Amino acid sequence: MNSNEQYETLDPTNWDEMRSLAHRIVDDAMTYLETVRERPVWQPVPEEVAARFDEQAPHEPAGADVTYQEFLENIFPYPMGNIHPRFWAWYMGNGTVFGALGEFLAAVMNPNLGGGNHVASLVEGQVVNWMKEVLGFPRDASGLLVSGGSMANFVGIAVARNTKAGFNVREMGMQAAPQPLTVYASTEVHTCNHKAVEQLGIGSKYFRKIPVNDDYTIDLDALVQAIAADREAGCRPICVIGSAGTINTGAIDDLNALADLCKREDLWFHIDGAIGAVAVLAENIKPQLSGIERADSIALDLHKWMHMPFEAGCILVRHDDAHRRTFSLTPDYLAHESRGLAAGQLWFSDYGLQLSRQFRALKVWMSIKEHGLDRFGRMIARNVEQAHYFGRLVENDPSLELLAPIGLDIVCFRFNPGGMDDEQLNALNKEILMQLHEQGIAAPSYTTLQGRYCLRIAISNHRSIQEDFDVLAREVVRIGRELVAQYTG
Ligand SMILES: *Cc1c(COP(=O)(O)O)cnc(C)c1O
Repeated sequence: MNSNEQYETLDPTNWDEMRSLAHRIVDDAMTYLETVRERPVWQPVPEEVAARFDEQAPHEPAGADVTYQEFLENIFPYPMGNIHPRFWAWYMGNGTVFGALGEFLAAVMNPNLGGGNHVASLVEGQVVNWMKEVLGFPRDASGLLVSGGSMANFVGIAVARNTKAGFNVREMGMQAAPQPLTVYASTEVHTCNHKAVEQLGIGSKYFRKIPVNDDYTIDLDALVQAIAADREAGCRPICVIGSAGTINTGAIDDLNALADLCKREDLWFHIDGAIGAVAVLAENIKPQLSGIERADSIALDLHKWMHMPFEAGCILVRHDDAHRRTFSLTPDYLAHESRGLAAGQLWFSDYGLQLSRQFRALKVWMSIKEHGLDRFGRMIARNVEQAHYFGRLVENDPSLELLAPIGLDIVCFRFNPGGMDDEQLNALNKEILMQLHEQGIAAPSYTTLQGRYCLRIAISNHRSIQEDFDVLAREVVRIGRELVAQYTG
């Protein structure tokens, strides 16, 4: 028996072989991203490939080479598509190449960011500080990297609830609420906030969805009235959630007006900035986000318009105390020491639900250092310009129609050759979308506004070039015409 067999571990039995496989993997990955434009945006996983994922759990080793081969054949060719220059569905990011390598290095170091005295905590602390700087938050605000916008909003609303409830929610639970707590946002607010309000025991019934104006921003008069009516009825308003970029149309609520209102009414002002918060990096867009720096808490997403590999979101809370009071619970076995590995007062597990936490800060730190924040700002500004460029293509084509004002980088439109009612147009545009996906041409997504089915593009894409939008406009019209000819032919 050689020593490797004697002391079985999960390390390679032959480091040189693993090293050369690792080099191959990096080469394959670079080629894959360099040539992404040459492949379809998306293609379905063939049935025979999908069947491979029904196989039973392996008990015997296949080895790294064989496993990697299987990855190359059955996984690598079928990406979601968001790495492609013509992917504009839902709201995503492309990832960054160096960020992907950062993800690898984070796994190599494999620290646990729950707490402790090690350099990874400094990296996360620095990334959070950068976000505070970018958003004009005070240096002594707190923050935490989280999985994404959903968790960031959850944390922000949890702090809001515990701070404004007027009783000790942690000890007594929501059962002790002497009056129902109410939370406010526009009808366009992202559903993750709705989930948070439900899971925090406030109840969806007490999540007041305020109507929007024609530009899909919150109707402030209606908000003021709703708060007054709730007070009158014996409820306790605690929090307003402003949207800095709504998911449907990219609308930005009047953040200064919301900040004023919250101050007047003694309410917590939370902002869902999953889409738009980082757009403050673009000088020409920043004025639209004026007031964002006045929030009590901001949820932002780094895996969307900052293009970090999934997952990376961030919550900032103006009042460190309130944040810590909501989540900190330190048992003996996690006591924070003054020396050694357990030293340090900044334990991120005091600021959220997770104890064990990945080193997601590293990919962010590396990508931001590599490119500098101004380049991210320019990518954001370009996407907004592209949205308006595409908007002009739509307006200049009599068979295309805009269905909402362009908010940030989001365009909602449809093919409308005339002579069809909304119901027919809805079915027609849905079929156009399916064909765009199935033919691998482009990946818009969809929404419905005022009963009208929209093709929707959210251009959070640092790889898109102007011609990509020419392709989209041309192909929508081509497929639309073909379908109309089939229906009427
Ligand atoms: C995407 C999104 C969220 C949710 O963020 P995740 O990162 O997907 O969890 C919340 N709010 C808005 C406006 C979003 O666009």
